[in-house]
Amino acid sequence: MKPPAFDYYRPTTLAEALSLIGAVEEAKVLAGGQSLVPMMNMRLARPGALVDINQVTELTEIQTLPDRLSIGALVRHYQLEQSPVVRKYTPIIAQAETLIGHPAIRSRGTIGGSLCHADPAAELPVLAVLGDWELTVQSSGQSRTIPAREFFLSFFITAIEPTELLTAVQVPKQTAAGQIVEYAVRSGDFALAIAAVTVDVDSSGTVRDARVALGGVADVPWRDPEMEQEWRGQPIGDNLWRDIACTVSRAIDPADDLHATASHRRHLAKTLIQQAFKRAMEERRTTTQLGRSH
Ligand SMILES: Cc1cc2nc3c(=O)[nH]c(=O)nc-3n(C[C@H](O)[C@H](O)[C@H](O)COP(=O)(O)OP(=O)(O)OC[C@H]3O[C@@H](n4cnc5c(N)ncnc54)[C@H](O)[C@@H]3O)c2cc1C
Repeated sequence: MKPPAFDYYRPTTLAEALSLIGAVEEAKVLAGGQSLVPMMNMRLARPGALVDINQVTELTEIQTLPDRLSIGALVRHYQLEQSPVVRKYTPIIAQAETLIGHPAIRSRGTIGGSLCHADPAAELPVLAVLGDWELTVQSSGQSRTIPAREFFLSFFITAIEPTELLTAVQVPKQTAAGQIVEYAVRSGDFALAIAAVTVDVDSSGTVRDARVALGGVADVPWRDPEMEQEWRGQPIGDNLWRDIACTVSRAIDPADDLHATASHRRHLAKTLIQQAFKRAMEERRTTTQLGRSH
């Protein structure tokens, strides 16, 4: 199918993009187009105009700051997968990118588009909630920062206003071991369930901080920081990972849908959480050994 008619604008500066988004009625931002264009073709989205931000170079940088990376909204999935800076400071992002769609999709799709599209079964929104990312959002003359946990409101709905543009994502440097694992029916499909974890352990093998975020089990990425406090001070090991997985899988409330039953998603969450923690521990061992041999 083809989309309904729309007007098309191609600003070349951020100021121009913000002014168009503020002024043009029923405008939508076009980033990689990997979600918006199929939705327009299927007539699930009918914007009156597209503001194509692909020429706005101010949105394409990855900046390394002392405590975080500041990632421009137009940075593409493949860049996050390959960037040495991302691999060094936030390796869980590079890992997640290998799970997103196919290379053709990753060559166009962007971090900003992925977050603003807010599919609850997408990988980057799950990491955003897990890692307490902050989203920098601008409109003409104004800028605000939205914590990831306040950004996702429901299926495909975010806290961003129609006159606002997501310009950059503030990602704290990863200081703990972290892993993301998922189950999809076919490689490249959206996952039925995603589990992402980070775990910070002291020298005696006790948890300083452990976090779990899930995708595909609710209308927004799932996380419960209050529950995480119970895990602090516990000795690491398979018993703890099993306890956490059981507690979380009882706490979530997934829905039945065309792709999976609620109980199947609950089972997947339980299995994936344990797998993610075990892999995070392997990662920690490898990093410690490498550290010793250098
Ligand atoms: C076959 C297929 C498989 C896929 N598999 C996966 C997968 O497994 N996991 C996954 O996470 N994704 C998957 N995707 C989606 C892909 O990751 C998209 O790149 C992403 O969801 C949207 O990014 P985009 O840059 O293409 O955004 P677009 O499609 O251009 O835009 C998406 C939405 O975000 C808005 N938007 C975009 N950028 C901004 C901005 N800077 N500020 C404000 N609003 C903005 C647009 O207006 C639109 O509403 C898949 C896509 C396809 C076609």
